[in-house]
Order: sequence, then C-alpha cells, then structure tokens
Amino acid sequence: RPNTRIAVVTGGNKGIGFEVCRQLGSHGVTVVLTARDETRGAEAVEKLRSLGVADLIFHQLDITDTSSIATLVDFLKIRFGKLDILVNNAAIGGVEFLQELDASEEKFAGMDSDQMLEWMVKNVREPIDGAKKGLQTNYYGTKHVTEALLPLLQSSSDGRIVTISSQFGLLRLISNEEVRQEFSDIDNLTEERLDELLDKFLEDFEADALEARGWPTGYSAYKVAKAAMNAYSRMLARRHPALRVNCAHPGYVRTGLTMSSGVLTPEEGARNVVKVALLPDGGPTGKYFAQGEEASF
Ligand code: NDP
Repeated sequence: RPNTRIAVVTGGNKGIGFEVCRQLGSHGVTVVLTARDETRGAEAVEKLRSLGVADLIFHQLDITDTSSIATLVDFLKIRFGKLDILVNNAAIGGVEFLQELDASEEKFAGMDSDQMLEWMVKNVREPIDGAKKGLQTNYYGTKHVTEALLPLLQSSSDGRIVTISSQFGLLRLISNEEVRQEFSDIDNLTEERLDELLDKFLEDFEADALEARGWPTGYSAYKVAKAAMNAYSRMLARRHPALRVNCAHPGYVRTGLTMSSGVLTPEEGARNVVKVALLPDGGPTGKYFAQGEEASF
C-alpha cells in the first residue's frame, strides 16, 4: 500500500513508546516498533497484535550502537524507500534510586506532581558513569538515529520528527546565563558548540561544580541532554524547512523511568506525543509542545 504512512518509534517495547506504537497503529500508520532487546521487542509486538494493532513490524535498534542504526536504515530503505514519522522516544534516567520501592504508587499517593518530582530529585544518586551514559543515549544516540534517518524522511512528502522532550529540558533550569543564552540562540548555535558545552558540563560534573557553574542539578545529565536535544531539534527544523521537526513533553507519566510516580497513564502521555506526530499538513515546526499544547522552550 504505497500511500500508507510509515513510522519508526525508538524504545517501543514499554512505557510511553509502547503506547505511541499502539495509538499510531490505530490511526492507520504502519509502525516499525524498535527496541534494543529482541525478546522484549518481540513480546511487545505480540501484545500489540493481541490488542488489534495489525500493521506492525519489529526491528532491533539500540540507539547508542551505530551498526544497529545502520541495519535499521538499510531495512527501511529496502522495505519502504521512505520514512514519514520518526518518534525519538528512547531514553534513560542515568540515575540510581536511593530507595527501592515496590508498591511505588502507594508511596506517592496524596502527593501532587511537584511534590513527587521533588521526591524523585532528592532520592536519586547520579554517578558520573550514569551522567555520561545519559548524554550518550539521550543526546548523542537520539541525534545519530535522527541523522541516519534524515534521507529517508526527506523521501517522504510529509516527513516528521517528534522528539520526546521533558519539562526537565526547559531552558529556565539552566541558571548560568551565558550557557542558557547559547542554548537559546539557535541562529548562532552549532552542533560543534553544543558538543563543547556538553563536554564542559561533564568537566564541571567531575569537579563537583554543577551548582557553582549554574547547571541543573538532580537528574542533571538528563536535563542537560533534553535541553541539548531541544536545541538540536530547533537547528534541524531551520535546516530542513520541508520537514516538521518538533519536541513534545508528554506530561509526568507513570513508567519505569519515574518509578511509577507521575500523574498520567502511559496512554495519556502517549496521546500528547501522537497529537504532535499527526498535526495537520503544513503545521508548526521547530516548536515545543507541553502536553499537546505549544509552549516556550
Ligand atoms: P521507560 O523507561 O518506560 O521506557 C524507556 C524506553 O527506552 C524503553 O523501551 C527502553 O528500552 C528504551 N531505551 C533505553 N535506552 C535505549 C537504547 N540505548 N536504545 C534503544 N532503546 C532504549 O520510560 P518512559 O516511557 O517514561 O520514557 C519515554 C520517553 O518519555 C523518554 O524520552 C523520556 O525521557 C520521556 N519523558 C518521560 C516522562 C515521564 O514522566 N515518564 C516525562 C518527560 C519525558 P529497555 O526496555 O530495553 O530498557
């Protein structure tokens, strides 16, 4: 069926990504559900088929593995010759929880979302290895997948990229004014400069100088990676005016990433992402959507 839209979702085996696959599938999109783990991916596909999503294909993808990315690109090229929608969903927290919680939802009962987020930020430890891995996955991995899939997106008549961002990636969390200015000045920012800023962040992290240098703290690498991905997404939108390139904050969602804290179900969170993925033709690009509504970065 040549007119069917094709979507790739990264990290589609669980959480918000799984639900994005289900909802895109229910809108008549052919979904390529990707996961880094073959077994978890295949199980997710089975589950979606049993839920009635018919037009679904599994392909392995670890976003930090360049050969895995290349294999996916080859597969899509041969099978479809184009890509219409890329949903950059996969990410890691890069932190260790100080408390193991089983009945985590009980723990958070009665807290509002600010209280829950505060609890989360206070109850994690951020090892330097986690911070490095966080940047490698959430920024560099996502960027490499996006770059590799750009030619296929350009072969679509209506190519779209939706990168799942976060309220943790908002510019106001960077209190260092110079750095915040550089992250916001999309006209003058370059990918090389972003890399330098991220290197500087890691240097300051290792020197225990995050607070002193005005970087975000508590999930710091996650926050900086999301801010960098927002900036990259805006640069890409300028470079490729024929594509729609946007960022979407799903809301605070109960998944593995939030230890099942949060106020939205994965289904509700995914709806906020799918809405952006399926905006009408000629819609906005280079924008940030918070829970489905356009907002500032
Ligand atoms: P989950 O932890 O439930 O899911 C994360 C998914 O990413 C999993 O499928 C995981 O795979 C996958 N993943 C991690 N690393 C890689 C990798 N290297 N290659 C491929 N896949 C990978 O989290 P959520 O569903 O909550 O998160 C989805 C997105 O939503 C993320 O971008 C997150 O930052 C964002 N977000 C979430 C919020 C929330 O409140 N939950 C709030 C704001 C943003 P595996 O199962 O193998 O680990």
